[in-house]
Amino acid sequence: MAVVPAAQLDSLAQGAGRYAPSPSGDLHLGNLRTALLAWLFARSSGRRFLMRIDDLDRVRPGAAERQLADLAAIGLDWDGPVVRQSERLPHYDAAIERLTAAGLTYECYCTRREIQQAATAPHGPMGAYPGICRTLGPEARARRRAEGRPAALRLRAAAADFEVVDDLHGRYRGPVDDVVLRRGDGTPAYNLAVVVDDAEQGVDQVVRGDDLLPSTPRQAYLASLLDLPIPRYAHVPLVLNENGQRLAKRDGAVTLADRRALGNTPDQVVSLLAGSLGYTASTPSQLLERFDPARLPREPWILAVDGLLQPSGCP
Ligand code: GLU
Repeated sequence: MAVVPAAQLDSLAQGAGRYAPSPSGDLHLGNLRTALLAWLFARSSGRRFLMRIDDLDRVRPGAAERQLADLAAIGLDWDGPVVRQSERLPHYDAAIERLTAAGLTYECYCTRREIQQAATAPHGPMGAYPGICRTLGPEARARRRAEGRPAALRLRAAAADFEVVDDLHGRYRGPVDDVVLRRGDGTPAYNLAVVVDDAEQGVDQVVRGDDLLPSTPRQAYLASLLDLPIPRYAHVPLVLNENGQRLAKRDGAVTLADRRALGNTPDQVVSLLAGSLGYTASTPSQLLERFDPARLPREPWILAVDGLLQPSGCP
């Protein structure tokens, strides 16, 4: 194992990494690989490893339990109880209230279609909210409110972009716009919840799929407005199918249950994941002994699911 000197362990005693799946279905090999990497980054740096279920939306009954069972089956462990976002609503409310008290929010009555039809703000980043409701006067606002459309709450962003530092991508500057903080149906938005949770859980290392890199400047900017610490990031490459698309259930036997049905053991699945990272190992602990973040592949893992019947890296 990459040994962490005692002094460094002390200094990191409060630090933590985490894995935070959305319980929308079973985890596939790409998700399991990202979870394994998040665990390796945390454990190899002496951090705690936390598990959080991001269940504010996209919830499929029973999925969270199956996800946790699969993560445990491949040999991942975590510290403390599993945290569920649905049980933390007052924390998101408090953060939204702080932003509102600072004059940093406004109600937005736009439908998705109105936003799509409006031109992007003249100096705003592509796809950013064009600011239609940002400058409504009190009368127009009262009129829109009276129309009865449920308002979302948006951030009144004062920056156009923000820079984060990523262990794999280096300095990354990306757009910041008037992100939704609370949706029209009252649900706190993911970008807000993730910032509040990571800070309150003491997460100082966020390892996740690089599809989330473009959202990261928004999240870090929100953290800065809330006076919360900005974590260290490592956005890891995704797993793609042979056509270069993000791996999905329709690609074949991609979940642990699928692999088991084909006769693979969890160790064989870990071997496959380890092989994709350039290691020969069949348990996370074996992998931890050799793990070196600097050696990580920077390219997506292209997975030919049909060729998976005999996992590579197994005797
Ligand atoms: N729950 C998010 C997802 O599964 C990930 C959140 C995060 O890692 O920040 O896509």
